[in-house]
Amino acid sequence: MTDAVTADRIDPSPAGKGSITGTFDAVVVGAGFAGMYMLYRLRALGLSVRVFEAGAGVGGTWFWNRYPGARCDVESMQYSYSFSRELEQEWNWSELYAAQPEILAYANHVADRFDLRRDIQFETRVTAAHYGETEQGWIVGTDRDDLVYARFCIMASGQLSSLHPPEIPGFDQFQGDWHHTGAWPHDPVDLKGRSVGIIGTGSSGTQAVPVVAKEAGRLYVFQRTPNYVLPSPNKAMTPEYAGVWKAHADVLRRKAHETRTGILYNFGTKSALDVSDDERTAEFSNRWKTGSSILAAYTDFFTNIDANGKAAEFVRDQIRTIVKDPATAARLTPTDYPIGAKRICIDSHYYQAFNRENVELVDIKAEPIERFDARGLQTTRRAIALDVIILATGFDAVTGALARIDIRGREGQPLASKWQDGPTAFLGLMISGFPNLFTVNGPGSPAALSNVLMSIEHHVDWIAGCVQTVRARNCSTVEPSQAAEYDWTNTVAEAGRTSLFQKAASWFNGANVAGKPKQFLVYVGGIKAYREKCSAVVANGYRDFIFE
Ligand code: FAD
Ligand code: NAP
Repeated sequence: MTDAVTADRIDPSPAGKGSITGTFDAVVVGAGFAGMYMLYRLRALGLSVRVFEAGAGVGGTWFWNRYPGARCDVESMQYSYSFSRELEQEWNWSELYAAQPEILAYANHVADRFDLRRDIQFETRVTAAHYGETEQGWIVGTDRDDLVYARFCIMASGQLSSLHPPEIPGFDQFQGDWHHTGAWPHDPVDLKGRSVGIIGTGSSGTQAVPVVAKEAGRLYVFQRTPNYVLPSPNKAMTPEYAGVWKAHADVLRRKAHETRTGILYNFGTKSALDVSDDERTAEFSNRWKTGSSILAAYTDFFTNIDANGKAAEFVRDQIRTIVKDPATAARLTPTDYPIGAKRICIDSHYYQAFNRENVELVDIKAEPIERFDARGLQTTRRAIALDVIILATGFDAVTGALARIDIRGREGQPLASKWQDGPTAFLGLMISGFPNLFTVNGPGSPAALSNVLMSIEHHVDWIAGCVQTVRARNCSTVEPSQAAEYDWTNTVAEAGRTSLFQKAASWFNGANVAGKPKQFLVYVGGIKAYREKCSAVVANGYRDFIFE
């Protein structure tokens, strides 16, 4: 692949060699929502902190993913920090589900309000982090020749920050413009009247399609696996709605903690199988019209395949109703995995876009892409000329950003070799043999199946508590025991194996990247169970950890 995608490959610099250019109590990698809050919390503990961020600004996901249609699919009153009452009260969202520019503006507001930028070094990629036995801390190297020492190193490098380009030959021969949704240019991309191809129909692709369709002369949507795409309930925020949220934020957020995903929906209380067909269809139809979550309508979509089938079939019916061409509708219809087993996509008129004259669905399972060439691409059936290719092919999720850093723990053990058969970690927060190294949303955290911002706040608070404990105990290091790590890794695997999530190939289970070990990267047991476990390991005096 060409520059922008390979540009974020690391140049493993020789951390540990050369002279130290700075000393801090903690280094944080990444200035997305996780890194920003981590900085805030560590500062409050009195630690000196240096944050390294590869991008030119804060916001992480919302800094990089500027593609047309990018938008939050969790209500913005919920997908926002809760740590500061003042921040919560003063910020006003213009829509129920904010679009990318507004979320990025919010991230910038937070950075300014809490004066975070003075400790963030932008446009600096961490390339190596080595644990020093003598120093009992981390020596961190960057692509700007920084070589800093810090007792604690926190990877807030993102679950979805490492781009995954498709492995299709000939890409470097393509003479047109191309962009990955996850590294979208800051300047406007001219799509007007041009022939555009979007490869990938996950959350990013399905958000982009309806918006690009309105601008492009011709749009080809290259679909490998159809997704279940539900309508977005987005609308303008009203002062009344925001007012109720702000007045009751504490109670509402506490209620959200008690749910499986940390998101408050209009939850039903019955099994989908305990109601008549008519009642169920009426409930689904009402939710489809208002955008209220269909998967919250009944209690058992994730535990009972028959119940799940009722929701899946309802969505299939909607696709057949909306899409006028029956052959296109059939190709858009997911049939071979349960609804929700891949992450649900939330759209604004995705299926409707296929009724436009200028939009064509190309089913690349029936008609695989063989190669790119100078003018576009070649499928097994035809040549398709393209001016612009949009790669909506996703990410090397959860472990990708960590794999691009040369991380070495005790006795110089590379994290890559420890994880060669799949990642092992305790609670997605720490790794045995890697003292004082923390990961926010690491493998085995439930964050990806939750309101991620809420999970970030929880993980960061937990990490701050652990750092504080190391200091309070007058110790230098902390790491989880191998036994605790082993048990949690098994718990994560078992929860995945017995769930509906194992019935689809997705980034949750490492299936989207060739050669990646197939393993559940996300704890699917829900945030409530997870939070209880995290609290329990603290309440029992950190018995599962070794303090030195
Ligand atoms: P990120 O935002 O990914 O930030 C990580 C930062 O680390 C990046 O800025 C990156 O440049 C930097 N970094 C990585 N490696 C290095 C390195 N080696 N050196 C220096 N810097 C480095 N979640 C939801 O809950 N609801 C949503 O609606 C939602 N929508 C999403 C939409 C998109 C398009 C994507 C991709 C994800 C979405 N997510 C959503 C998940 C989203 O990633 C999280 O909500 C959240 O923004 C993650 O924050 P973070 O700080 O953990 O990671
Ligand atoms: P994704 O869900 O992994 O989807 C990638 C798409 O690209 C899939 O359709 C995949 O097909 C296809 N693809 C991958 N490699 C391909 C290849 N070589 N040839 C052809 N097609 C290929 O990635 P994403 O859409 O960027 O979303 C990733 C995650 O980010 C989401 O699950 C979500 O957590 C988050 N996100 C959220 C939102 C939101 O709603 N706010 C928006 C965007 C992203 P297969 O399915 O066949 O693999």
